[in-house]
Amino acid sequence: MTTWKKIDDKKIRHVWRCPECGKTAIIGPDFYGDNGTPVCMECSDDMEYCRTETLQAAIVRRPLRAKNAY
Ligand SMILES: [Zn+2]
Repeated sequence: MTTWKKIDDKKIRHVWRCPECGKTAIIGPDFYGDNGTPVCMECSDDMEYCRTETLQAAIVRRPLRAKNAY
């Protein structure tokens, strides 16, 4: 079973990309309320939505110990 849960605005971000030059913009959810669709600063074109990312604890990998090392 799945359900919808509220998530802190500070823990998500949206990635948009300019179709002209490929420049990306990372914005928070509150951006749209003030500005609408983000516009590329280089081309003045509307950007295209790419994806949404959530903030998560980074998994720190310990370096593998080399075999036969003491
Ligand atoms: Zn552009």
